[in-house]
Amino acid sequence: MSAKIRLYVEHPLGAGQSVPLDRDQAHYLFGVMRQGAGAHVALFNGQDGEWLAEVAEAGKRGGTLVCREQTKPLQLPPDLWLMFAPIKKARTDFIVEKAAEMGAARILPVQTEFTNSERIRQDRLQAHAVEAAEQCGGTYVPEVGELQKLSRLLDAWPQERQLMFCDEAEVGKALQLAAQTQAGAPWAILIGPEGGFSDAERKRLHTLPQSHVVSLGPRILRADTAAVAAMTLWQQALGDW
Ligand code: SAM
Repeated sequence: MSAKIRLYVEHPLGAGQSVPLDRDQAHYLFGVMRQGAGAHVALFNGQDGEWLAEVAEAGKRGGTLVCREQTKPLQLPPDLWLMFAPIKKARTDFIVEKAAEMGAARILPVQTEFTNSERIRQDRLQAHAVEAAEQCGGTYVPEVGELQKLSRLLDAWPQERQLMFCDEAEVGKALQLAAQTQAGAPWAILIGPEGGFSDAERKRLHTLPQSHVVSLGPRILRADTAAVAAMTLWQQALGDW
């Protein structure tokens, strides 16, 4: 038995476990998707894998599902952070959605000197990450952080975490992604804003011991394209693809 609809819930999952639905989930499942009692739905909560569940009660303002069997174990992504400077709303949404699909463990919006936006809607971006996980069959949802200053993040940079610094000043040089790091080592990718990095930021990032400065080819990519390209390259070289 399989289910076409996948839902993320913030509730423990296990054999025989009842899972209450909130108003929005009930509206989606019973109103929009026209499901009713007895229908099957795949549930995941980011911790207990994926479970096949059956609708026990369907109402306008809520409902209850009951977990029947586990259909997937929890599959954690590699320990990879995607750090990016937020750009226009639709493009920022795109970056979060693609990072969740492509296997980022954490998504960290960072404010650089030339970052266009001073504010983000963290809750909205987190909802995009949930939606992406629902659609791509993932059992894990990356946390989307609050906007924080890149300089502060670098001040407390974890010693063991390598950094793939995508520097537009390297355009045209050959890609060199260090193969000498240990398998399973924690990493982060850093993508700059439309205006690129300032000289001071570039200098600091070049001297960070964990930094691996990379080029993403002979053309300057938009930040959203660069995020997808960098994650593809990293996943292929060091990740779980
Ligand atoms: N305003 C910058 C310029 O004209 O040089 C371009 C910034 S680019 C639109 C946004 C971000 O994407 C950059 O900060 C960098 O992180 C990444 N990026 C884009 N193209 C790249 C390339 N060819 N090599 C390395 N990083 C690149």
